[in-house]
Order: sequence, then C-alpha cells, then structure tokens
Amino acid sequence: MSYVFNPAPVAAIPVVGSESLFPVHRIYCVGRNYAEHAKEMGFSGREAPFFFMKPADAVLVVNDGATGEMPYPTLTKDLHHEIELVVALGKGGRNIKAEDAASHIFGYAVGLDMTRRDLQAEAKKQGRPWDIAKSFDLSAPITAIVPAARAGDINNAAIWLDVNGARRQSSEVTKLIWNIAETIEALSQAWELQAGDLIFSGTPEGVAAVSRGDVLEGGVAGLPPLRVKLV
Ligand code: MN
Repeated sequence: MSYVFNPAPVAAIPVVGSESLFPVHRIYCVGRNYAEHAKEMGFSGREAPFFFMKPADAVLVVNDGATGEMPYPTLTKDLHHEIELVVALGKGGRNIKAEDAASHIFGYAVGLDMTRRDLQAEAKKQGRPWDIAKSFDLSAPITAIVPAARAGDINNAAIWLDVNGARRQSSEVTKLIWNIAETIEALSQAWELQAGDLIFSGTPEGVAAVSRGDVLEGGVAGLPPLRVKLV
C-alpha cells in the first residue's frame, strides 16, 4: 500500500547512551501541577489534575551542549517559559495504578512548555480551547532522554530555569501536586497510553515573558540541561 504523498517523518528524540531514537507518539501536558504556580495563575492549587496536548512534531530537540534556536512565534506579545520535567513512556496501558507506574517509564528529559500567555488568557476568558496558546509549532523544546535507571532520584530532584543568567524558576519535583505516578494513573484513565508518549509534568512558579534574543537555560538535577535561544 502506498500513500498519496509521503507521510511526515516520525518526531524522534535522542536517548543518552544509545544510538537509537525515541519515537514520539503523543505529548500530554499537566496543567497547574505545582501549588505556587497555580496560585500565581489565580487558583487555589487544590483541583483535580487536568491535561492538554501538544502535537508530537511540536518538539524542538536540543542536543547536550548545544543551544537550540526557537523562532519567536507569531500572534503573541507575551511568550512565557514553563520549565518542566518530562516523562517518556516505554510501555503503554489503560487504568495503570500509581504503584505500577514506574514500570511504564522509559526515561526522563527536560522540556519547556512554551506558552502564548496572552492568547491563553483570551481563550480562558472566552471559554475557548487552549490549542493556539499551547500547541503551536516548536512549542516544546526538549533535551535528549535519559533512561530511568541513569536519571538518579528524579522524584526528589531540583528544577530550575535561568533567563540570560538570572534565575526565574526554582523548585523541587517533590512539590508536584500530582506526582509522576499519580499523573500516569490519572492520564491512563482518560486515554490508552502508548510507548512513545511524553508527559510534560507541570511547571513551578516564576513563569514570565521572554523576548527575541533571550537565552533560556533550564534543568532538572540528574538530567542534562536544556539551552534555548529565542530567534
Ligand atoms: Mn506547563
């Protein structure tokens, strides 16, 4: 069977210590998953988890030691950074229990959930979807994936983001409202998860605007840092 035109290439991410790539299936994102960030967005921080998605080809892969170039997106005057721990699934499933979630995790990466905040605010006001604010082209800069066994104690890791060398976001993965295992449990009740799914687990407080020319450098302890310049 042939296609009427060539299918788009599979979005794929390098894996630390491997010659093989991680093929991306879907990108799930958790909203407001650190209490202090929920508060800065005007919420109590005590709601049930909720999710949105980015398309798989929204990834902007940045290799270790390199500086990725992210084009400043159209239609916004208020592009925000959200540094996040990204979970990469190696095994799918439905109704995964939190206590079994670890066996579904392939590894971890550092990602940025870049957000057109002005368009998101308008979508919230109008009761419209967030896609145009969250799911635009190259809205998901990401590092190579570190296999779980090599990633250290990720659930207790520090997470941070600097913009032009000044600290903007600083927290710890322990402060997730819904931890990684609970997030996988909740997601797998809503969708059948598959190998290749990425989960952006949420951002801590300190989100703010960036401009063309800014250099963003973020990390999660135990993973290679993510460095991106807005062009
Ligand atoms: Mn986010």
